[in-house]
Amino acid sequence: MLEIRNLHARLAEEGTEIIRGLNLTVKAGEVAAIMGPNGSGKSTLSYILAGREDYEVTEGDILFNGESILEMDPAERAAAGVFLAFQYPMEIPGVATMEFLKVAINAQRKARGEEPLKVPDLLKRVKEGANELNVDMAMLKRPLNVGFSGGEKKRAEILQMKLLEPKLCVLDETDSGLDIDALKIVADGVNALRSPDRAMIVITHYQRLLDYIVPDSVHVLYKGQVIKSGDKDLALELENNGYAGIIGEAA
Ligand code: ADP
Ligand code: MG
Ligand code: MG
Repeated sequence: MLEIRNLHARLAEEGTEIIRGLNLTVKAGEVAAIMGPNGSGKSTLSYILAGREDYEVTEGDILFNGESILEMDPAERAAAGVFLAFQYPMEIPGVATMEFLKVAINAQRKARGEEPLKVPDLLKRVKEGANELNVDMAMLKRPLNVGFSGGEKKRAEILQMKLLEPKLCVLDETDSGLDIDALKIVADGVNALRSPDRAMIVITHYQRLLDYIVPDSVHVLYKGQVIKSGDKDLALELENNGYAGIIGEAA
């Protein structure tokens, strides 16, 4: 589903190369964990996948279902099914969560050439999703993320992810700063959205999230490259021995 080939990318403004020859393949149905020390380029990779304009790809390619997405803008990528969950979800005062969901869903339908959902259908879908993910409908009347607890923000985000029916979900350190209950919300949500026709990339600095989301593959990112790939045991090895050994091996 996703094939990143020899990707090189730099900051558009100052030209510093951050991604330096990265290769990664994620199959449909797969949950891939990306780990790596701080500053190794994990967030940068997620922004590049989402199509953020601050970064410039200088070499290599990103294929999504066999087609390059490099020329697609963020809205086109979202319409094609790429969803990025942020590390720190934005607060949007004055916009009720429900209203936000409606706008997001219908913008995406429009980009896909589909008619907007009628209000009763929209409500039905949101209710079903909220029910499945244990989101309180009362929360959806409140402005998006404003005054939400860490756990509520995560619930809102996972609900958004579910409703947009993405093909590729990228969760960037969505576990940082979360207590154990919120961590489980994220993990339960991700696990509920696992599906044979969807790929997920879970970026995390710590192993603990992977106790709840058991990944199919684990990739270690360092200095803008994947320096080692393995199965879930690689995450345990990292938890026990740290990154030093693997970095030494790669060098
Ligand atoms: P990670 O998510 O693995 O901690 P990042 O992708 O955030 O790493 O950062 C990778 C490297 O790129 C770091 O050295 C960081 O300082 C640098 N970097 C990323 N974005 C910017 C930016 N907008 N301005 C300056 N440096 C940046
Ligand atoms: Mg970081
Ligand atoms: Mg990061």
